Amino acid sequence: MSQVAGLPLRFRFLPLLHEAHTRDGWLSREAVETIARQVRIPLAEAWEAATSFPEFRFAAGGGDGGGCGGLSCVVNGAPPSESVHARCRFRCFEAPVSGGEDDFPEEMIRLAGRLLAPDITGWDGLRAASSMGSARALDMIDRAGIRGRGGAYFPAARKWRAALGQGRPLALVINAEEGEPGVFKDRAVLCRRPRRFVEGLAIAVSVLRPAVTVIFINGEAAPARRSVETVIAGAGEVFPGGVEVVPGGGGYVLGEETTLLNALEGRKPAPRLRPPYPVESGLFGMPTVVNNVETIANLSILFREGEAPFLDPDPAAAGGSKLFSVSGRVARPGLYEMPLGTPLRVLLAAAGEKDGAAFAAVLAGGPSGGFLPASEFHRRLVPGLLHPTGAVTGSGGMVVLDTTSDLRAAVLETARFNARESCGKCTPCREGLPRVVESLAEGHTEGLDDLLEVVGAASLCGLGQMAPGPIRSARHFWPELFS
Ligand code: SF4
Repeated sequence: MSQVAGLPLRFRFLPLLHEAHTRDGWLSREAVETIARQVRIPLAEAWEAATSFPEFRFAAGGGDGGGCGGLSCVVNGAPPSESVHARCRFRCFEAPVSGGEDDFPEEMIRLAGRLLAPDITGWDGLRAASSMGSARALDMIDRAGIRGRGGAYFPAARKWRAALGQGRPLALVINAEEGEPGVFKDRAVLCRRPRRFVEGLAIAVSVLRPAVTVIFINGEAAPARRSVETVIAGAGEVFPGGVEVVPGGGGYVLGEETTLLNALEGRKPAPRLRPPYPVESGLFGMPTVVNNVETIANLSILFREGEAPFLDPDPAAAGGSKLFSVSGRVARPGLYEMPLGTPLRVLLAAAGEKDGAAFAAVLAGGPSGGFLPASEFHRRLVPGLLHPTGAVTGSGGMVVLDTTSDLRAAVLETARFNARESCGKCTPCREGLPRVVESLAEGHTEGLDDLLEVVGAASLCGLGQMAPGPIRSARHFWPELFS
């Protein structure tokens, strides 16, 4: 087996697992052992890594039941996740759903701005970026204030400069894992506006000159993968070094960048300690830039239209638009492109009430965010915290509850989700979250605040650190539900 772009053989571990899983419908011990020998990973390590991916099955037959246990489905009548085996299907816009992923429907693009406008033709943005050279192109990205759209909003130019400053061959990894229930924006871009994304990727490649370029895409997002692979295959000389498209293996924590890097290296998908940060030592020790699909797609706009669409005297609104995935109890679920800084109530008004029931709450930022009541809908969707108890703009996932929804059950659902998705690496998260669930399910809230404090403060990664948010916010705004 040949090495990929000079990378160690173990880079092939996850793709080979997928191949075997697709071929056989499951992964036998023999199949995993054969692959481990091929890529020279110790058998015990290979087995531990393979069995850590929730998308793989390790017994013949069966399946995962077909139903979705995500919150958007639950508030629309699906049984809670306790009683179904399935994970979120990421088709929250048509909840309740069952079965695998389909192509993202064009009609679910409810409000299009520049990013979701009809897809581009030609490579004008790439030509503009190439003609100005790396240094000037980086300055332009800096001036436009493009920040990461995966939820952290870190300035893209600063990240790129930090990686380039290492003075070694670097890796560019696109995070298209998108494993947060209620979020489907990257899938939508890859399915419906793939050329916009691919031009952004080509611009990033022309500026960063990476030794290796990888798109790490959710393992179940097959339509999105096919769509982007088709455009890349037709792009000819645009990617002289090629692009590796690697499917993931599921799990919420896989969207965390160091977890994703471990998965690409054929290791157990669990977060790494930082420092070093990926820009210093990422994929196989290379300085690595990890950017989200939406962030990269914005580069195409910048180099076609200039900085003007990204500039705004209001700092909260600067940096361009944001894609919001809206689902749950709304009349028009789907994808809305709006400026950063848009008040939540404006987004909700666009999505509309369902069956005449008034909005009661929004889970802003998913299981790592927090609940907001109607009295807080005036808040603007800006990067960072929307309320000190936990709600965030995050990657733009907004799950809406109305007066017919069971809020207490929704809180329990988010707690169960976080406990289930814990990778188990650190004790506060692994041991604490099941106790939080127990406490909520049984209605014993004595000591719960202390427990949440420990989980939030002592966990290694964002999953544990932010898991208290939905519970804290709900207890703050609806104390009567938890007394
Ligand atoms: S906080 Fe949870 S998900 Fe993150 S490393 Fe620790 S156990 Fe794993």
